[in-house]
Amino acid sequence: MTTRKPLVVANWKMNKLPSETKEYIEKVQVTLAGQDDVETVLAGQDVLLSKMVKAARESTIAIGAENVYWQERGAYTGETSPAALEDLGVAYVIIGHSERRNYFRETDEMVNLKALAAIQHHLVPIIAIDEAIVTESEGDHVHWVVNQVIESLEGISAPDVVKLVLAYEPTAAIGSGQAMTPELAQFSLRRIRLTLADMYGWEIANQVRIMYGGSVKPTNAFELMRQPDIDGVLVGDAALDPSTFVELVQLAR
Ligand code: PGA
Repeated sequence: MTTRKPLVVANWKMNKLPSETKEYIEKVQVTLAGQDDVETVLAGQDVLLSKMVKAARESTIAIGAENVYWQERGAYTGETSPAALEDLGVAYVIIGHSERRNYFRETDEMVNLKALAAIQHHLVPIIAIDEAIVTESEGDHVHWVVNQVIESLEGISAPDVVKLVLAYEPTAAIGSGQAMTPELAQFSLRRIRLTLADMYGWEIANQVRIMYGGSVKPTNAFELMRQPDIDGVLVGDAALDPSTFVELVQLAR
């Protein structure tokens, strides 16, 4: 039986100011001091990252970026290099979030290039798998999810795939206040794990952590995280408040 360490990730999106980061991190740190049975990650926009890394230095909290480019250096105005994130002490990076796919036209191919670049720079990619498609047929829906997994992981070796994280986020659940039911979320995550098993075999598939994201809050987090294939949660709105974030971490243990 493989044990996968639970993971709780706050996705601050574009919601916090540099001047607001230190207080938040200190509050979380005080309550979670000495606890490391749940991996705790705070992801913020690029302009916050150096302050976040500094504030979390003495703690078990890891810092994540919300996006990255796949080239290391060069004339790519406005993009963020994976080498720069590594150099700064950032540990994770969210790749292919539904908002990036929908507002900034990120494709599975771009997600794949970003994931490969992140791995090369020792960043843990959190690859988001969305579900924007609304179709009549169950078959199309499954195909949509499975395809994103296959294309996002193209060329990623088994030793690398066990280090990354997948995050299933049905678009309709994001920011809506209405999470998917734990049973349906489990069904979709199982489908993702089966796809991993087809690609890499069960021994590897059972080691990969898969999270659920979309309107996670203290009232639904426990039931979601109790599902056998749900290893953690990716949290937007509810994680903007440090005490709620701590509550979610406590529910994951
Ligand atoms: P939400 O966002 O928790 O506000 O729904 C989750 C996400 O987009 O990662």
